Amino acid sequence: VTDLAGRRVTVAGLGVSGVPAARALRGLGAEVTVVNGSDGEPQRAQAAELEPLGITVRLGDGDTLPEGTELVVTTPGWKPTSPLFLAAAEAGVPVWGDVELAWRLRGVDAPPWLAVTGTNGKTTTVRMLACILEAAGLRTAAVGNIGVSLLDIVLGDEPYDVLAVELSSYQLHWAPSLRAHSGAVLNLAPDHLDWHGSMAAYAADKGRIYEGNQVACVYNVADPATEDLVRAADVEEGCRAIGFTLGTPGPSQLGVVENILVDRAFVANRQKQAQELAEVSDVNPPAPHNIANALAAAALARAYGVPPAAVRDGLRAFRPDPHRVEHVADVGGVAYVDDSKATNTHAAEASLGAYEHIVWIAGGLAKGATFDELVVSAAKRLRGVVLIGADRALIREALARHAADVPVVDLERTDTGAMAAAVREAARLARPGDTVLMAPACASMDMFVNYNKRGDAFAAAVHDLASGRVPDD
Ligand code: ADP
Repeated sequence: VTDLAGRRVTVAGLGVSGVPAARALRGLGAEVTVVNGSDGEPQRAQAAELEPLGITVRLGDGDTLPEGTELVVTTPGWKPTSPLFLAAAEAGVPVWGDVELAWRLRGVDAPPWLAVTGTNGKTTTVRMLACILEAAGLRTAAVGNIGVSLLDIVLGDEPYDVLAVELSSYQLHWAPSLRAHSGAVLNLAPDHLDWHGSMAAYAADKGRIYEGNQVACVYNVADPATEDLVRAADVEEGCRAIGFTLGTPGPSQLGVVENILVDRAFVANRQKQAQELAEVSDVNPPAPHNIANALAAAALARAYGVPPAAVRDGLRAFRPDPHRVEHVADVGGVAYVDDSKATNTHAAEASLGAYEHIVWIAGGLAKGATFDELVVSAAKRLRGVVLIGADRALIREALARHAADVPVVDLERTDTGAMAAAVREAARLARPGDTVLMAPACASMDMFVNYNKRGDAFAAAVHDLASGRVPDD
């Protein structure tokens, strides 16, 4: 257990992750300084909250390392190339993320972690996994990047048998000593490249989830890059590589045979070729990408020793979170679907692939992505496209290159009210039987606080459309 009492710790960043980290560190007796580049009203309010606890807050300079810093704890927004970290590296000062901190502070008999990362499907898979573990009668929680701070769990009093942990590439980047019981990389597609610098760096950060795994490294058979990461990892002796596939599984794999999810990796009875786990219809919704998520969750649960019946019961109990291919309403024979959580092209490709005739609402912050591949894969299904958001030109240009005959309405707007206008335009383009799919393939922060608010705006606009209301915008 790491003792931080009296140590001089610098926290990089305020906000939802920096403020609780600073509090926790202070609670452990550390001498805490929080640094933050911006110096506006919200930052001053947060500083006023922290200073009475004996925490120093330095606003307006996020680049210089405070004198005597022994450890930097960073929040996810800060890029690895930030001057503060370069200064820390030069001074030989370690940099930890919130996950590293939680891992170091966990007690001696702390519960093992079943960890999930990947470009898409993390939250869904972690929730499915928690449902399965609960169905097995285990005390567990879905934690981490899902919105439940690992630090709170580790420092809290609640006892757990095992944790279902969602980890982002940012968290993994700054978690060098994490050693999970078992880990899974669901898939790898370009995302957050502006933060990581390159696809190779992004993949390497994801691959850290396998480092030191004790029982299983779970990979996606259809995504060989994930298996490469398993091969590159240094794991405990006896730790196995376990694949999941939507096809018939090989040995050491989970897969699907005649609409049944089956396990050929953890088969107790050696006479048996495969263990049946659940039916495809037990997965909610039973779309291909979601069955892959269910298989990954099942693999981690099975690695932990959960019996087959609990996998089935857990999957049946699982309900998807909002804004993930969520059906909002039918209006005039047109289905309106909210996939606001499709914040990158890989996620949008999964939902665009699930419908025949689509009016697509897209655009937002591209985060360094390109859209050619996505547009090529979706072109034949597109009835029309409505574009909003800061980087909409990138999508418009890809459409011009690969789908020139698809009608495109570029609203040239980045204000919050643009979503209602986009829904009305989409309604004009759609024919009965079509789906209006809001799967922006971009982050939301140019127009909204987060993807939840973007999805809510879409749903509100759809409900207005259904009731014939036309809001001012
Ligand atoms: P994450 O936590 O990784 O962001 P979510 O479960 O919240 O993942 O889903 C994010 C988006 O990706 C949603 O739009 C969802 O429909 C889509 N998605 C979910 N699972 C997959 C998958 N296995 N492959 C591709 N897209 C997926």
